[in-house]
Amino acid sequence: MVLQAIQDGWLKLARQNISPHFDERPKQVDVDLLVIHCISLPCGNYGTPYIDDLFLGKLDPNTHPDFQDIYQLRVSAHLLIRRDGEVVQYVPFDKRAWHAGVSQFQGREKCNDFSIGIELEGTDTTTFTDEQYQQLAEITGHLMMLYPKLTKSRIVGHEHIAPGRKTDPGIGFDWDHYFHSLEKRA
Ligand SMILES: [Zn+2]
Repeated sequence: MVLQAIQDGWLKLARQNISPHFDERPKQVDVDLLVIHCISLPCGNYGTPYIDDLFLGKLDPNTHPDFQDIYQLRVSAHLLIRRDGEVVQYVPFDKRAWHAGVSQFQGREKCNDFSIGIELEGTDTTTFTDEQYQQLAEITGHLMMLYPKLTKSRIVGHEHIAPGRKTDPGIGFDWDHYFHSLEKRA
């Protein structure tokens, strides 16, 4: 059953909303890093359609002053986990999503090449919901089965691979709670 949770790079439980912001991973690269992010648009507002819009390249700059600076960004993530636990998938796992930007993990640059990016709906300074931790742990378990080189020590925050530039998922993300949930389901 668990093996079928992901088919052809798509998580079955997710709602698909395909982003044009992706490309091929380099050849012969193993996916062996998971990057946790957070996002909300406008910052601190939940349940809006604007994250989808941003990742699909359809964000209207006139909707909110903050959007003027970001609407032209060509960014995406593989997944978004909303506050209520709903999961949206924008890019299949075998393709390269554009979530990490300039980044480095253990001396390796361009983390997008070899990572999965998961966004949690939230902010860099506030807490996340139980539904989000549950879904994240569940999905992480599926990804670890699909990509055996993706181990617990290779799960990081965006802030860890782009220090000084990024602060997400931030101080409100409870890594102990996450890893505990992950072990419980194993
Ligand atoms: Zn991020």
